[in-house]
Amino acid sequence: MTIRNRISGQFTLIVASILIGFSLLIYLVSATYRREEFYERLKSKARTTVRFLVEVNEVDQDLLRIIDRNTLTAMIDEKVLILDDNNKLVYSSVDDYPVRYKPDLLDAVRREREIETTNGDNELVGILYEANGKRLVVLASAYDRFGQSKLENLYLTLVWGLLGGIGLTIGLGFFFAGQSLQPIGHINRQVQTITARNLRQRLDEGPRQDEIDQLAVNFNAVLQRLEQAFEQQRSFVSHASHELRTPLAALKSEIQLGLRRPLSAERHTEILQNLLSDTDRLIALSNSLLLLARTLENLEAVTMTSVRLDDVFFAAQEELLTAHPRYAVSFQYDQVPETETDMVALGNESLLVRVVLNLLDNACKYAADQRASVRIGKNAQQVWLSVTDAGIGLSTDEQKHIFEPFYRAPGAIKFGGFGIGLAVCQRIMEPHRGRISVESEPGIGSTFTMLLPRS
Ligand code: ADP
Repeated sequence: MTIRNRISGQFTLIVASILIGFSLLIYLVSATYRREEFYERLKSKARTTVRFLVEVNEVDQDLLRIIDRNTLTAMIDEKVLILDDNNKLVYSSVDDYPVRYKPDLLDAVRREREIETTNGDNELVGILYEANGKRLVVLASAYDRFGQSKLENLYLTLVWGLLGGIGLTIGLGFFFAGQSLQPIGHINRQVQTITARNLRQRLDEGPRQDEIDQLAVNFNAVLQRLEQAFEQQRSFVSHASHELRTPLAALKSEIQLGLRRPLSAERHTEILQNLLSDTDRLIALSNSLLLLARTLENLEAVTMTSVRLDDVFFAAQEELLTAHPRYAVSFQYDQVPETETDMVALGNESLLVRVVLNLLDNACKYAADQRASVRIGKNAQQVWLSVTDAGIGLSTDEQKHIFEPFYRAPGAIKFGGFGIGLAVCQRIMEPHRGRISVESEPGIGSTFTMLLPRS
């Protein structure tokens, strides 16, 4: 079912329910009013007749019958019967009327003094009249032709009005739903033309006022992010293949060199050593790429716990010094922790160790003295760990790019590395709602600071 049909269907259902409700109410109120009014007329007729008969001596039954039939207010099929306590007919407004009523009707009148009921199509009232020691039951019945025909008229008017109203509601609902949904159709047609190849395309955002314009704005924002992600992916693949090609090309030329004969034993050893170091580089690169892929894989679903930043540091330091025994790392607190929970952040310990290890490794790698000094501190909202070195440093321009995958500052080329570590670190910061800031000066050194919200 299309949204257009659903909206117009629901709209019609609501309006039809309201119309039907109102019509029913009007009809029922009118019908009740007619009935009550007619019963009142019957009662007053019954009272007048019995009073005439009992209280006015000059009036005999025949005269009363003549008066009854000729009053202006006479009703259709009007009958008045008066019965005494022994259920004997004392007066009947019609001569040839076969008196038909249920005996328990008379008992009911005597019991309740006044009843309102129906007799076939006619309305009937019964009243108990007591005066001068007499107890008479007066039954008056008549057919309310005028009231019934007015009610019938009202019924037809309401039915036709209802049908017309519902028909009009369906038409208008369908028309206006179509009008309101037109921009969605427009967006739909535009979206259909967007493929992975033309992610640059954007939707018309209109005057940005209603929900549909907002949808287009949000969709465009998603497209923008998708385009960026695609772009990153593309540049990652091209960088990775470039990085792989260089050592592979070196390997190939070393092998070709080794195949040339005759070669001295020393030359052979030298070639094999080059082969070994190029292979090592390839292995290191594949490891870095694998690490990048694994880290980025389920980054959004990592489990977070309360993690002490000093524990993170000690774990990273141990791993670093095992791999590079010549590196040296000094450590101090900005403020000595007063409680166990002082330097605690909410995070994933093994990912945070990876970040600190990378910062320590870079600091020692890019500094001639292979030393890094670490400080840990906190304020009301954050805990931080900063790694300072007296290494090659970075210009302001270089600092802007160091978190891009595969970027390496020109001064770093002579050191080992692939430009992947900091990109991974920055991605790890995202689920932690933390960040890495850098202060650096070429030739003087750098300070990389990891900031995390306190747990
Ligand atoms: P890698 O160190 O393997 O090249 P990273 O992603 O860790 O990759 O770092 C990216 C770049 O940032 C490095 O190539 C280097 O140019 C620069 N860099 C990172 N840390 C430092 C540092 N402590 N001192 C100077 N430059 C650094």
